[in-house]
Amino acid sequence: MANKRDYYEVLGVDKNADESTIKKAYYKMAKQYHPDTNPGDKVAEEKFKEANEAYEVLSDATKKAKYDQFGHAAFDPSMGGGDGGFGGFGGFSGGFSDFGDLGDILGSMFGGGFSGSSSSARRRNGPVQGDDIGTTVTIDFEEAVFGVKKDVPYTRACHCASCQGTGASEGSRGVETCSTCGGRGQVSRVQRMGGMSFQSTVACESCRGTGKIIKNPCSKCRGTGMTREGKRLSVSIPAGIDNGERIALRGQGNEGRNGGPAGDLIITVSVRSHAFFERDGYNVYCEVPITVAEATLGAEIDIPTLEGNIKHTIPEGTQPGTRFTMRGKGIPYVNGNGRRGDLIFRTVVEIPRGLNEKQKTAMKAFAESCGESNYAKHKQFFKKIFGTKDR
Ligand SMILES: [Zn+2]
Ligand SMILES: [Zn+2]
Repeated sequence: MANKRDYYEVLGVDKNADESTIKKAYYKMAKQYHPDTNPGDKVAEEKFKEANEAYEVLSDATKKAKYDQFGHAAFDPSMGGGDGGFGGFGGFSGGFSDFGDLGDILGSMFGGGFSGSSSSARRRNGPVQGDDIGTTVTIDFEEAVFGVKKDVPYTRACHCASCQGTGASEGSRGVETCSTCGGRGQVSRVQRMGGMSFQSTVACESCRGTGKIIKNPCSKCRGTGMTREGKRLSVSIPAGIDNGERIALRGQGNEGRNGGPAGDLIITVSVRSHAFFERDGYNVYCEVPITVAEATLGAEIDIPTLEGNIKHTIPEGTQPGTRFTMRGKGIPYVNGNGRRGDLIFRTVVEIPRGLNEKQKTAMKAFAESCGESNYAKHKQFFKKIFGTKDR
């Protein structure tokens, strides 16, 4: 290790160079000295190796810090400088997992040979869960309150019925194990460069990572083993559900591949608004017009509820905008064992219009009969503004 060049020098960067500068410098060197572009060139091979080694340390914040502190001794077990945990560079003969993004960089630079053990290549052969499907169902206000059963149509990916999901026109008999990879869907590849050997796992090219060879693809699914089918489900929407809430039906989404589980069907419930009820949580609100006489004298009036009209008494002298609460006449809690919100109504006192002469005369006579004591608010208001007791 005595004659090792400084890693910053190797990559031709300043000691204060940032991550991206180091990466760029390495990229350039690796491209320049790659053994594929310099076959048989020992000097290039040596430079390539040197650059890899330098980048492996300088691209890793922890190793870089050690290197900055101890120099090469940080990675030389015989020197005892570092904590020894790095284990030197023997790891170069291992898989790409030891390299962090080195494999990715090389993969993007040189294509095929390095694209290695990407998880997608590996997964093609194993069980894959089907995707979730989202859909929306629109229901009426009352249906949301009391619950409803709805037919929900949707389309999902299923195993092809013609070939039982095998993708082969002869069913499972038409599917052969790939002889190149022995059905594993991936093959190991060893590449030597600069005296180091790289071992990587790549998707098998013969079977495109599936591990299977189909001689005659099924015509219905074109060999994919999956088709899209329309489906209808009768879905119970629970009482009390609110606009925008979702119901998940496990396993009703797209079917999985290679024995993977199906995804879910996610139903978003859209609730139509009501002519006069409004909802907030489990409470229901509405406005109820009452006459001047009802407000003045008190009355028993019909209040619309979710289950038809119910009589409710309003007291003498009820003011406009007074709120009355009818306990338990609101919306049932979802799975709340009968627990319900309230119905809250607000009185709107309607002023009569189109009075005839006789009515107007009666109204005037009535008004003249009233005094301050009948209009407490009126009295207080004008007293505050004008300091007088009347207009
Ligand atoms: Zn194969
Ligand atoms: Zn098929």
